[in-house]
Formats: sequence, C-alpha cells, structure tokens
Amino acid sequence: MSFASLGLSESILRAVSERGYTDPTPIQAQAIPAVLSGGDLLAGAQTGTGKTAGFTLPILQRLSTTEPRKAGAIRALVLTPTRELAAQVEESVREYGKHTDISSMVMFGGVSINPQITQLKKRVDVLVATPGRLLDHVQQKTLDLSNVEILVLDEADRMLDMGFIRDIKKVLALLPKQRQNLLFSATFSDEIKALADGLLNNPALIEV
Ligand code: AMP
Repeated sequence: MSFASLGLSESILRAVSERGYTDPTPIQAQAIPAVLSGGDLLAGAQTGTGKTAGFTLPILQRLSTTEPRKAGAIRALVLTPTRELAAQVEESVREYGKHTDISSMVMFGGVSINPQITQLKKRVDVLVATPGRLLDHVQQKTLDLSNVEILVLDEADRMLDMGFIRDIKKVLALLPKQRQNLLFSATFSDEIKALADGLLNNPALIEV
C-alpha cells in the first residue's frame, strides 16, 4: 500500500515524501479514501497512530481541488481539546499543505486575542481551534463559520472529559447543515456515541 494509491494528488504526495513517510499507517490507509469520498467518518484511534495525517492529507486535497462556497471563507474547522494538540495539528496542515495554496491558522485561549483578530482578517482556509477561544471570537463577531465545509472533532473523548460538550454544541449550531463531519476518539462512552449519533450521517467506521 502506497500513499499514491490512496488517491492523493502530486502536491500532497510531495510533502508526504519530504516528511519522510513511505507507507501509510493503517488508519491513514482507511481514513484517506473515506474522507476523499466526501462522506462522514467515525474513527477510533489513539494518538501515535498517524491519525493527524489521516484527516489532514485528504482535507488538504479536497480543499485544494474544489472551489470555496464563498471566497475568503473558512472552509475546514478542526476542534481539539488542548492548545498543544491544536498547535500540532495546525503545524501538520501547514507542512503537508506547503505545496498547495491552502492557508491555515491556529487559535487557542490563554494568549492575547488581538493578533488572532488580525490574522482572521486575512484568508484562512483551515482553522484549528480549542472550543472556548473559538466562541470568544464568535461572541466578538470576529469569526464567521457559516461557510465551513468540513468539521473535525479530534480527540472527542478528551473534549467531553474536559467539559466541552456545551461549547461543541454551540459551535455546531453555527455551522451550515450541509457539510462533512469527521469524529476521532480513542474511546467510545455512551456520551461519545450520543454525540456521534447526532452529528454523523451514515459514517464510514474505522477502528485501529
Ligand atoms: P499522530 O497519531 O497523528 O499524532 O502521529 C504520530 C506520529 O507518527 C507523528 O510523529 C507522525 O509524524 C508520525 N507518522 C504519521 N504518519 C506516518 C507515516 N505514514 N509513516 C511514518 N510516520 C508517520
């Protein structure tokens, strides 16, 4: 199994190869075609499995090969439980997307909001954020999520453990109904199952 056989485009394959990856991990082999197909996904995956590239690579490909709903709009939103994970995911988006024209931004709390407001005035295709700061921006009307095409909940179980369910629901209400949803979680409590049931339409199921 090679990355090329998964349907990724040349500009993305080049970044993958420059990163030094030769073969996809099991979650990547399953998640990449599923995300490229445009459908929803429910993935059981721990950190260390390569899940970040599993959603980042196909999202970059979809965004770089289709027109935005509205010029300049945020097209993909990735929610993570912590700043560290947000920073790591956004770095992956930047690295794997370096040969595409996709732009990204990371947003989390505990730092000044003003530089984030300035950055949001420029084009941001992929926003990686923690829920609390994201909602601060919504409240200040400095963030428009009404054209998001793809939503990722990364480490959804940790987000629920950290008490983010209400924030997540508030964010969901701001997104267009027509969109692709990807949920990654290491564990599947009843609470996660309920969230997945409400969020996902006929999802592809992946467990590694
Ligand atoms: P993640 O589970 O996304 O946090 O990734 C775990 C680690 O695996 C990261 O350090 C990645 O750089 C690395 N990694 C991801 N995909 C591959 C791959 N296909 N081949 C080798 N290493 C990888």
